[in-house]
Amino acid sequence: VEPDPQAGAAVKAADRAHVFHSWSAQGLIDPLAVAGAEGSYFWDYDGNHYLDFTSGLVYTNIGYQHPKVVAAIQEQAGKLATFAPAFAIDVRSEAARLIAERTPGDLDKIFFTNGGAEAVENAVRMARLHTGRPKVLSAYRSYHGATSTAINLTGDPRRWPSDTAAAGVVHFWAPYLYRSAFYATTEAEETERALAHLESTIAFEGPQTIAAIILETVPGTAGIMTPPPGYLTGVRELCDKYGIVFILDEVMAGFGRTGKWFAAEHFDVVPDLMTFAKGVNSGYVPLGGVAISEKIAATFDTRPYPGGLTYSGHPLACAAAVATIHVMEDEKVVEHAAHLGEHVLGPGLRDLAERHPSVGEVRGMGAFWALDLVKNKETREPLVPYNAAGEANAPMAAFGAAAKKNGLWPFINMNRTHAVPACNISEAEAKEGLAALDAALSVADEHTV
Ligand code: PLP
Repeated sequence: VEPDPQAGAAVKAADRAHVFHSWSAQGLIDPLAVAGAEGSYFWDYDGNHYLDFTSGLVYTNIGYQHPKVVAAIQEQAGKLATFAPAFAIDVRSEAARLIAERTPGDLDKIFFTNGGAEAVENAVRMARLHTGRPKVLSAYRSYHGATSTAINLTGDPRRWPSDTAAAGVVHFWAPYLYRSAFYATTEAEETERALAHLESTIAFEGPQTIAAIILETVPGTAGIMTPPPGYLTGVRELCDKYGIVFILDEVMAGFGRTGKWFAAEHFDVVPDLMTFAKGVNSGYVPLGGVAISEKIAATFDTRPYPGGLTYSGHPLACAAAVATIHVMEDEKVVEHAAHLGEHVLGPGLRDLAERHPSVGEVRGMGAFWALDLVKNKETREPLVPYNAAGEANAPMAAFGAAAKKNGLWPFINMNRTHAVPACNISEAEAKEGLAALDAALSVADEHTV
């Protein structure tokens, strides 16, 4: 594609005229005008190409413009572009079947939403109605979406401006050995103490007041803290002991990201409800949902479920999901993500950690990795303070600028960079990304002490 800076300037001017952007001070942003994308790359109007190590917002698990998914959407648009949710539609039933066959245990009924936050809202609603209890426990260092209950469940600073006590949310600490809230020094200690902390939180809140515990199976935006052995099965046992619904949020970790269809498989745990979105159809058309266990589905066998959405199970979104799941099977995308984790990204990132004083810890699996950047490996002081902005965030900004200069679009959250490329990124492209990270980390190294 020929560069066309003038066209790029016009696209940006039009954006600034009328588009109101997420999470931003509207007068302080300068969004890149994107001209196109394919596979793991996107490009601007000035001729710059970027290797996307973010998969958008960690959702294009099969990369951009997969021809089979694009064709399936086009075909569905020609056949039946839309239809209301109360009717039985072939492509909706097929998407639900393909999802239910891959979700763990008896999560066999699918309630479709337009995205992750709505999935979380509805999972919580189901749990409250099923138990007749008001509260929900969620973890600090989590993200569950930006709608009313979902943002209150979220355990990061994005919650603060929208916080309300009426949400009935109580936060607790989940395991994170590198920055342990429990002074633990081993994974076993971290698991044991995190579970004891959760059980005492339940006791002091009153088990009879708690509808659900929600956790990201592997927390994503908050730092890809792979839970230590025994933690999630321990939470499952606490939920069973106290009659609490266990919700796993797999909006980010699901659909191949961790090298399994769902991250829950790694930990031998089956929740009562599981939320999904993003990778279900790589976000080609907005889609999310809740996978529901037999027990909770039965609550609504004769009693109406009081929730719904105009576009629930939209035919275009479902056609994209059916095509995406077939592509992932045919092209062994889940197996490839596992391979990347074990043989390319895992070893490559650990090698970077050895050579760069700014890398405190590497953690993750599949195509789902975080580098915890530090000022000093001994003290583990984060490279920038929690929720830093402006000057205080300069080291991370310098790291990000260096990555982009090297053709890599990096995922950055606080003092971390995440390597979260498309799950079908080639080995050669992944290595290209590692090389660009290597160069950018040298800039982060300048801020270590
Ligand atoms: N849950 C998790 C774990 C997420 O990562 C996200 C989005 O990043 C959401 C929920 C919210 O999804 P959405 O932005 O589609 O509403």
